Amino acid sequence: MSIYLDNAATTRVCPEAAEAAMEAMTLSYANPNSPHAMGRAAKALMERGRERVAKALGCDKGELYFTSCGTEGDNWALRRGAEYNARHGRHILSSEAEHPAVIRTLDELEKRQGFTVTRLKPAPDGSVTPDAVLDALREDTCLVSLMTVNNETGAVTDIAAIVREVKARNPHTLIHTDAVQAFLKVPLNARSLGADLITLSGHKIHAPKGVGALYVRRGLNLPPLLTGGGQEEGKRSGTQAVELIAAFGAAAEAGARSFREDAARMAALREHAVERLTAEVPGLLTIGGGAPQILSISLPGWRSEVLMNYLESKGISVAKSSACKKGGRSQVLTALKLPAPVIDGAIRVSLSRETTAAEIDAFCDALAEARRTIRGSVR
Ligand code: PLP
Repeated sequence: MSIYLDNAATTRVCPEAAEAAMEAMTLSYANPNSPHAMGRAAKALMERGRERVAKALGCDKGELYFTSCGTEGDNWALRRGAEYNARHGRHILSSEAEHPAVIRTLDELEKRQGFTVTRLKPAPDGSVTPDAVLDALREDTCLVSLMTVNNETGAVTDIAAIVREVKARNPHTLIHTDAVQAFLKVPLNARSLGADLITLSGHKIHAPKGVGALYVRRGLNLPPLLTGGGQEEGKRSGTQAVELIAAFGAAAEAGARSFREDAARMAALREHAVERLTAEVPGLLTIGGGAPQILSISLPGWRSEVLMNYLESKGISVAKSSACKKGGRSQVLTALKLPAPVIDGAIRVSLSRETTAAEIDAFCDALAEARRTIRGSVR
């Protein structure tokens, strides 16, 4: 038996995406920038992928540039967004609960390029409130970067409200959101969100690893991060991974088709898990919440690794916190000022549209059993 509950780390490639990749790899395999007939066929496949992802995000296809991953999108948006807008000032506003792709990049901008970064403390669930942003906003704030859904706690930040309020006071401030965990999990529409820059990643929505996209609002002339052959309208050089892009498009279309039902079903399963665990596992805490696919819990007095090993012995895969961090305490949970035993006993359970009620029940059974069987420091 194998139960995969680590979908915030990555998802299984869906059949639609695998089929699209296969077609691109075996039939339309030419370079999409070659002018001959086979090149044009590959380009058509790539552009269909772009249209599909754009439709799922609610933007024009001309506003979407393909990248190699979410990390690249975050780096591009922050490095070039900050430089481009530095004429308005060198202050950047972000939070302590961002993904390392944002945190490390902002650290560099601060250390090497003379930007000043204000890192907001998140609310207890891991989200950031519009009031906190407005309080810290300055005349010289060139860039605001906040994630839409927190990858560790599932907390949802109201980016649309933040965009409205920041732009009302500082129309020149650029707003970036890392929506890697939000896309096709919570309602997300580029137009109604109003952000200037939005990062997406394919492998969180049942496309393969190695493809992402950056939405750049029309009219914003963001300089490229990668320079070279001038692909992607000169914005992102490097031969496009047609097979991955075609798969990303197919996965986005499939995900958008069943988005409402999937989100409702995951939210109900998550709720069911919370109810069962609260009733059956003494001392269990839930952390954050909001997005339907992420359930962050802690059993203070029991170490995450021990719980994970127990679950693994039952064929169940979950995460300690984020998959992107090796060792050490979770920066996000630390930023929430949770006591050490809560952080050290935290595990992240993450669902996908494929997750079944039987799998969630098996997980709840196994965790309750772990609590009864393993000796923790609390009895
Ligand atoms: N941003 C968030 C919120 C994520 O959860 C992740 C991946 O876990 C990333 C960025 C990085 O995406 P990728 O793995 O495609 O580089």
